[in-house]
Amino acid sequence: MDKVNVLGVNFDNKNFKQFQEAFLKRIDHHQSTFVVTANPEIVMAANENPLFMKILKEDTDYITADGIGIIKAAKILKTPLPERVTGYDLFTWLMKLADEKGLRVYLIGAKPQVIHAVQEKVAHSYSGINLVGAEDGYFKEDLEMVARRIRRAKPDLVFAALGFPKQEQLLSILRKENVPALMMGVGGSFDVFSGMSKRAPQIFQNLHLEWFYRLLKEPSRIGRMMVLPKFVIKVKKSKRGK
Ligand code: UDP
Repeated sequence: MDKVNVLGVNFDNKNFKQFQEAFLKRIDHHQSTFVVTANPEIVMAANENPLFMKILKEDTDYITADGIGIIKAAKILKTPLPERVTGYDLFTWLMKLADEKGLRVYLIGAKPQVIHAVQEKVAHSYSGINLVGAEDGYFKEDLEMVARRIRRAKPDLVFAALGFPKQEQLLSILRKENVPALMMGVGGSFDVFSGMSKRAPQIFQNLHLEWFYRLLKEPSRIGRMMVLPKFVIKVKKSKRGK
């Protein structure tokens, strides 16, 4: 089975290594590629927002399971996915690849001081990267204008850290125009990459409690996290409906 459907979202049935192989090929061939790393929140949002669901269904090339909740849901549905493939892990691997290959990278998103710190880190530790754009995510223009600016820079890789669904809306414009880059929405990844926000310690990651660590650090996320139990209930219902 190539794809695994979780509440209408088609996840690619691939492990991390298989995604890497697929992306390498597409980057080498300059194929326009739009990657979404979807967690339960994204799946729930798509179920409430038809335009967002349409983007996921029609404009994406790959969807990875970014979160243990998706892996558990696929198991409940008896169509298991091999492993969690997070946006952050793909992002850091792609940045290393860009450094080695001298790729043109466009970064958009996060607060001005964060993107500035990311730029410094790239200059210092990823000097092989040709950074053709680095801008914060609090622009006032519409997404079409921003997309035009990105397209003109002729990037090989585009990372948008604007939160969903904004980052996916922006990248879907570029994908529809067949911009020959690999493009991925990376949520809060610039905050972590810059060192301004810490990823959960390994022990939390191993126990699949990364979400709990984030909750401890940012208690205001509780509202967002309430979608998790709702997600599980909806998955179980969808199984019964099968
Ligand atoms: N952000 C942005 N522009 C906006 C809203 C958010 O650049 O208009 C950034 C924000 O600074 C953060 C990222 O988008 O770096 C979203 O982070 P969040 O933790 O919400 O991501 P997720 O949980 O979706 O991965």
